[in-house]
Formats: sequence, structure tokens, C-alpha cells
Amino acid sequence: MTDKEYAYFEGKFVDIGDAKVSIKTHVVQYGTGVFEGIRGYWNEKEEEIYLFRLREHFQRMNDSMKIMRIEPKHSVDEMCDLAVELVKKNAPRTDVYVRPLAYKNSQLIGPGLHNNPSEFCMFAVPFGAYFKTGDEGLKVMVSSWRRIEDNAIPPRAKVTGAYANTALSKTDAVLYGFDDSIVLTEDGHISEGSAMNLFMVKNGELVTTLVSDNILVGITLSSVIEFVRSELGIETSRRKIDRTELYSADELFFCGTGAEVCAVVDVDKRPVGSGKMGPMCEQIKNLYHKITHGEIEKYHKWLTPVYAKKGSKIGAR
Ligand code: PMP
Repeated sequence: MTDKEYAYFEGKFVDIGDAKVSIKTHVVQYGTGVFEGIRGYWNEKEEEIYLFRLREHFQRMNDSMKIMRIEPKHSVDEMCDLAVELVKKNAPRTDVYVRPLAYKNSQLIGPGLHNNPSEFCMFAVPFGAYFKTGDEGLKVMVSSWRRIEDNAIPPRAKVTGAYANTALSKTDAVLYGFDDSIVLTEDGHISEGSAMNLFMVKNGELVTTLVSDNILVGITLSSVIEFVRSELGIETSRRKIDRTELYSADELFFCGTGAEVCAVVDVDKRPVGSGKMGPMCEQIKNLYHKITHGEIEKYHKWLTPVYAKKGSKIGAR
């Protein structure tokens, strides 16, 4: 990174120290914002950062804004350009995480989303592994906190205030000595991890939940479904998953922008399969690593280069 850290705030690039909102701001008081988390992968050989599925993240953000009545300040294309520009200005030579936020900016008392102007901001930070357990895998618990419902706070929109739900389940799990949690829907089926989606392997079948199981519809999840189909010839089944299926699964793994692909080796103090990362998870994790780092040409379509030097393998968008 350069000495100076830039953010995009109220229509321009500013020093991070100047990107501040008042304590009266609606989003601070009521959680009325929507956000995204986007990873950029540093490729040492090519001296390049590849932003992973940039456009899909801003498309989802646009959908989240629509649900929350947050008027977009920029088109999807403009937000993509701003993200590239922001990372370039900060000039990191490491993996990065880009965090755009669109939010209600009035200083009104009262929760209304109407007559309430919106703003957009974005920052980028160097970012390594979300879980420090590496190939050891994660020990998790099924949370006693239930996942928020579509008709309460829609989980398919990445709403800032909704992460109070995530924070409760994650924190309790960690304080009880687990690495993370899995949350159930109100009807008692598997929804997802605290901030990642879940896959299960049983008798060679790869299974994940339905979009209607109150998950955030993950971009990593849809990427995994797509590349597992074309690279491994495996079709993912999408259906409801019962809690006790986790206890008899051969393999479980989380996926998400932060979490990437990470084995779950123990649930509620019951080892999953052999209690170690399973072969299907290992294959998918390796493929994901190669794809995100630009090592498989077929998936260059998912990568946006930041520095886009002349002659670089993947051209600018
Ligand atoms: N569920 C939740 C609640 C999340 O916060 C995330 C992380 N964005 C995910 C799932 C995974 O989604 P994605 O693969 O798009 O990052």
C-alpha cells in the first residue's frame, strides 16, 4: 500500500481519515445500509491483483439497494470502475478486501426509508485468511440463534443491520470454544454458516441448501456449483438439509468471499467423516485457489485485473 490510504466517500477519493459520518446518520442508528465484500488476489508472478467476480458483487448490491429502497448513486459499471480505481490508488502488493457500502444518510429520527437520501462509500484493506485454521478445518456448533427470515430482514440483501444476527451466532460459538457456527431456519432446517454458505457430501453426492432457506445467495457458492460441474462433472443437488444430516455427512465445507473454501471437520462435538478435510473439499479448495489466482484460463472471465499492464494475460474489462 502507499503511505496514504484512500477511501471513496461522498463522490470523491479522500484520505481514509476524512471519510467520516455523523453519529446522527440513519445507517449508524438503524442499520439501514447494504454492503458487499469483494476479494482481490495478488499474483506475484504477474504483479497483478485480480478482483474476483466484481460485477456479480455490484449486481447483488444493486438488488440489495432495491430491496432496501436505497437509490443507487452509480450504475453497476461505474461501481466496478470505482473499485478498480480505489485499489489502484492504494497500490497494494498483497491480497485485498474491498468493502463498498450504500446507506441511508439522513439525520432523521424515525426508521423510514422514504424521504431519506442515500450515499455510497468504499474502502479497501489488505486481507489474508479469514480462518486461521488452514487445512486443519473448522470445529463448529449449530447455533441456538435462528437465521433471520425473508419476511423479517431479507437475508438475500446484504443489510448492515442484519449482521447483528450473524454477530450473535458467531460470537456465542467462539465464546463457547468453537471456530464458527451453523444457523438453522425458523423451521429447523440448515440455512448457512455465520457468514458463509454450506456444502455437504454424502455417498459421493454434493448437496447445498435452497436459496429459499434464508441464505445470502453466495457468489462463491454459485461459482463452486459452476466449476464443480464443468471440472469434476458433478451436479450439485439443492434441497433442504436436516440438522442431523450434518452428523452423518461424509464431508462438510463452508464457502464465501472471506472464508473461501474451508473444511468443517466437527459439528456439535461429532467428527465429520474421518474428522479431517475430505477429498472432495480438498479438490474444490485447490480448484478455487487456482481459479481466483488466474491459473485457469477458462475462468479469466471471473477476474478483473487492477493494474492491467500492457501485455498482461487478462485485459482490462
Ligand atoms: N452468507 C452470509 C451471511 C455472508 O455474509 C456471506 C459473505 N458475503 C456469504 C454467505 C457468502 O457469500 P459470498 O460467497 O457471495 O461472499
